[in-house]
Amino acid sequence: MSIKIDRQKCIGCGKCLEACPGNLICKRDDSKAFIKFPDECWGCTACVKECPVQAINYYLGADIGGKGTYFNTKKEKNILYWHIVKPNKEEIIITTNETEANKY
Ligand code: SF4
Ligand code: SF4
Repeated sequence: MSIKIDRQKCIGCGKCLEACPGNLICKRDDSKAFIKFPDECWGCTACVKECPVQAINYYLGADIGGKGTYFNTKKEKNILYWHIVKPNKEEIIITTNETEANKY
């Protein structure tokens, strides 16, 4: 598992830097974010969920059958939309309600 930040989409808001519990993300001189220590990312998805412009893609590992599958997220009020893209370009949307996150 690893993340990849799309420099074209990044608007330099810094939310991913604040969200990463390991301080693994930094900014370049142009304010674009990049992951400085990719090997240390443990895949918590915090940065992905905070990015307001879907600039961070999370790649699923080959060990769980990822084979190029990635996802990013979009938040609208309490609903989080998980946008999953498979290697064959098939797209899947899963929604979760954050107010029910600790329900079970
Ligand atoms: S997935 Fe988690 S550990 Fe990895 S860079 Fe994002 S916030 Fe940091
Ligand atoms: S949260 Fe997204 S837009 Fe903001 S700095 Fe990070 S990658 Fe860029």
